[in-house]
Amino acid sequence: MARTDAIVLGAGIVGTSIALQLAKRGMSVALVDRGGIGEETSYGNSGAIEGSTTYPPAFPSNLAALMRVALKQGSDANYHFGFLPKVTPWLWAFRAASRPDRILETARLNRPLFERAIPEHDTLMAESGASQYARKNGWLKLYRSEEGFTGLQPELRLAREFGLAFEVLDAAGVKALEPSLNPVFKRAVFWPGVVSLSNPLAVTKAYAARFSALGGVTLRGDARSLHRSGAGWRVDTEQGPLDTSAAIVALGPWAPDVLAPLGIKLPFGFKRGYHRHYKTEGNATLSRPVIDVANGYLITPMQQGTRLTTGAEFAARDAAPTPVQFERLMPHLRDLFPLGERADDKTWLGARPCFPDSRPVIGRAPGQKGLWLAVGHAHWGLTLGPVTGRLIGEMMAGETPFCDPAPYAAERFL
Ligand SMILES: Cc1cc2nc3c(=O)[nH]c(=O)nc-3n(C[C@H](O)[C@H](O)[C@H](O)COP(=O)(O)OP(=O)(O)OC[C@H]3O[C@@H](n4cnc5c(N)ncnc54)[C@H](O)[C@@H]3O)c2cc1C
Repeated sequence: MARTDAIVLGAGIVGTSIALQLAKRGMSVALVDRGGIGEETSYGNSGAIEGSTTYPPAFPSNLAALMRVALKQGSDANYHFGFLPKVTPWLWAFRAASRPDRILETARLNRPLFERAIPEHDTLMAESGASQYARKNGWLKLYRSEEGFTGLQPELRLAREFGLAFEVLDAAGVKALEPSLNPVFKRAVFWPGVVSLSNPLAVTKAYAARFSALGGVTLRGDARSLHRSGAGWRVDTEQGPLDTSAAIVALGPWAPDVLAPLGIKLPFGFKRGYHRHYKTEGNATLSRPVIDVANGYLITPMQQGTRLTTGAEFAARDAAPTPVQFERLMPHLRDLFPLGERADDKTWLGARPCFPDSRPVIGRAPGQKGLWLAVGHAHWGLTLGPVTGRLIGEMMAGETPFCDPAPYAAERFL
């Protein structure tokens, strides 16, 4: 029977980064996925490594905003009516975690991860020959109303406290950075500390290639075959069964498929999101991700074209795609930027795996010796993959972790 020190289940950015961080610590590691490396959620995202992020997304704070979502009038959120009864407990918990004091607490508890996000990526990118995919020119958030901007003040205060660089810009300041944006917004904030990728898939694949170069093994297999074998764990792969004393679940939105049968019930929610690729009209240019905050979409230059990603859709993870947010946001986007025709005819759908308190779970699985969890990275899995790998690597190797892992323990939900 083949044996390895660790089996990482799921080869998205989170699992691949963990596998690489463990291999760098001299462990023998198998990375198991039922598909290709990085081809699911870690492929379709907006490509931002958000070192400057502090506040998590919040439940609508006033009735008008809530009614806009409920009546499906905005483009920032959508939901499937039939899914509401199922998602309501999660939404209540999300609402409770959206109180100003809780948001601030979340921002502080998540900060150690965000603080190390870019340095960890930088190291892995340099070692993997992937640095050419990284643009270190920040991102721009646009506010269409003064009220939207005023609401930002607590977040900006916290950013100052954390020493994060930002610049409040007027239309002329934005024009200097992004000449093709029309001044349809009232205010803008430029966050120079954000790094964006021109091809997130290529970066995950580069990390996986580095993992292989260090002796790591990549296998095809179904993570749902994970079961106890003696004192350890066994996974069935296309190359046969594989035993280990340490299995790490990094299955993104599919984690519940493996955890629920083991009796580990965590409050997973799924904020689905879509992307499409476009050409630009004429000589229009875009150099960095731009977020239209009120309308809940982002555009960013990717190797495939200008990628447009949508906000949250509350629907069953596996429900058929309903990309209605594109129609709602398109008039706003066309006002802002001279978008051309579609670069391809695909509409990609993925699901952000989210806990209501907007903190990931990183650490030991409760009640299951030798099982580790790296799940629920929500809007920030690309950002936090490498730093999650580092934390798991340090904990598994018995090293002093770079930060206190207690805020990310699954036990907070038990
Ligand atoms: C529209 C959108 C925009 C986003 N933008 C950003 C952004 O700009 N910055 C950021 O940091 N984050 C962003 N995110 C979030 C980020 O993409 C995710 O948090 C992250 O990709 C999750 O990574 P993961 O490795 O946990 O999951 P995944 O990438 O989904 O990987 C999970 C892997 O598990 C495998 N798997 C599933 N089931 C099985 C099974 N039974 N057996 C074996 N393998 C299995 C899958 O094949 C997959 O490869 C965005 C997400 C969306 C949807």
